[in-house]
Amino acid sequence: MMKLDVDEATFPLGESRSFSFVVAPESIGLEEDAGLFRGEIYVDGSVMNTGSSLRTTGTIRTRRCFVCDRCLAEGERELTLDFSEDYAKTPGETDETASYDGTAIILDDLVRDTLLVAEPLRELCKSDCKGLCPVCGQNLNEGACDCDSFVPDPRLAALESLLQND
Ligand SMILES: [Zn+2]
Ligand SMILES: [Zn+2]
Repeated sequence: MMKLDVDEATFPLGESRSFSFVVAPESIGLEEDAGLFRGEIYVDGSVMNTGSSLRTTGTIRTRRCFVCDRCLAEGERELTLDFSEDYAKTPGETDETASYDGTAIILDDLVRDTLLVAEPLRELCKSDCKGLCPVCGQNLNEGACDCDSFVPDPRLAALESLLQND
């Protein structure tokens, strides 16, 4: 559990404290998506007493798995996300999910939600992924197939006709 001990009695107004955690995805309720986030999740940031709230800001780093939208290959990529959340000192005044009980803040929900919200719908294994052959399904990144699905490049076609006329 990512717990910040920020007891009101010993955490003066305007003071800022830094924190750093390393957690496994399943420890913050991401077990259903166990295949989605690989390895550990690094959380670094700081918490500040603003008077009315505890302002928590930081960065989450992890490796996220995905399936290429074009060729269906599995890949993984480093993911870095920033977060910022105000934990209100008076519960109910702001977002209920971000309340502060006067002694500690648990970051688990914030980190999990930040990771889940950031999930992109489409992702490519590389920007120039050639995808799959629409006829035989061959992964064209691994080599061409013999299917007749070739769409001539107009510039090449012009060059070919020049050569033929020669
Ligand atoms: Zn791909
Ligand atoms: Zn093919």
